[in-house]
Amino acid sequence: MWLDDFVNEQLEYIKRNGLYRKRIILDEDVIDFSSNDYLGLKDNPETKEKIKTHLEKLALGSGASTLISGYYQIQKQLEYEISRLKQTESSLVIGSGYLANTGLIPALSDENTVIFSDEYNHASIIDGIRLSKAKKEIYRHINMQDLEDKLKKYKNVHKKIIITDGVFSMEGDIAPLKEINFLAKKYSAVLIIDDAHGTGVMGEGRGTLYHFGLEPEDHIIQMGTLSKAVGSYGAFISATKNVIDYLINKMRTAIFTTGLSPLQNFVSLEHIKLIQKNKSRIKKLIENTELLYQKMKENSIPVNYFGTPILTVIIGDEWKTLKIRDKLLKEKLFVQGIRPPTVPKGSSRLRITVSTKHTENDINLLLNKLKKVLDEEKDG
Ligand SMILES: *Cc1c(COP(=O)(O)O)cnc(C)c1O
Repeated sequence: MWLDDFVNEQLEYIKRNGLYRKRIILDEDVIDFSSNDYLGLKDNPETKEKIKTHLEKLALGSGASTLISGYYQIQKQLEYEISRLKQTESSLVIGSGYLANTGLIPALSDENTVIFSDEYNHASIIDGIRLSKAKKEIYRHINMQDLEDKLKKYKNVHKKIIITDGVFSMEGDIAPLKEINFLAKKYSAVLIIDDAHGTGVMGEGRGTLYHFGLEPEDHIIQMGTLSKAVGSYGAFISATKNVIDYLINKMRTAIFTTGLSPLQNFVSLEHIKLIQKNKSRIKKLIENTELLYQKMKENSIPVNYFGTPILTVIIGDEWKTLKIRDKLLKEKLFVQGIRPPTVPKGSSRLRITVSTKHTENDINLLLNKLKKVLDEEKDG
């Protein structure tokens, strides 16, 4: 039987190259600096209380695809509130961000479509493009000259799509959406923004488009996840009524999959409303992030910071990155080490995410331990 041979060979390769991954369960007393729970909503006690009072009326599972009988009032309400937050005509809630990208991109493209994609876009975008019939052009990260050069090459192609993360998940930098949208209009391209890390964080919670003071337009499609700052699970696509109507009819990852649990959608709805109403969590998130960044700078830690709660320290070597991560974990601090294939080879890094729930003590502790461990690794 070939299965064991194949699997062992692959695993050996992964282990030899310092790329072996395993899932860990963090002890209760570990301070998590790698969660995408930016607003500290995933454990929100008020939501837990509210669930108790509504539990009687909430189905635990949806029971079917949303096109069969798995669509509920709670999801309709959630879609309405997301549209209010995003100021778009319409929104569609779907199983996850991964499902959103792998469904949206093929649904919008055929063999006559060209997709222009930033080289650091999320894996779900890459997979969405692979599943589509479109031709792809990968442009250099955030490089507008390269994007325009590539757009020019396809001047006579009618159907063009530019797709970019709003906030890049492994870098923490922000796509220059003003410039990208300018090019989208100049070359009549659709613009898809993956705002997985922008939702609830950027632009007072409305997302990266609003961070730049831009408004939704008919050629712009925004996607976001409910699993990061929203602290729940699922994802959404916000666009014109027409586009959403089409996606409901055509998106395979919305049609051939069971609808989200109403219980889960209840959590999403509560948190989307909270993000609209209460900006104090976002304010605290920004304060915490600024505090950590200033202290890292004062302590000469080579940090990359772009005004988002994702901070990185590039280590380079895969093994060294792991060693630092493990040493920090011994100190009850969890900072994930990011390695290839998630990031390019030789650019392994510590990815620190800040949350509203971190205290000044947590941040000071991280700073002191990080400084100590980085110094040790420099000498050793
Ligand atoms: C996390 C993430 C996704 C996937 O979202 P899930 O809801 O976790 O499936 C998509 N795009 C980007 C940029 C992400 O960071």
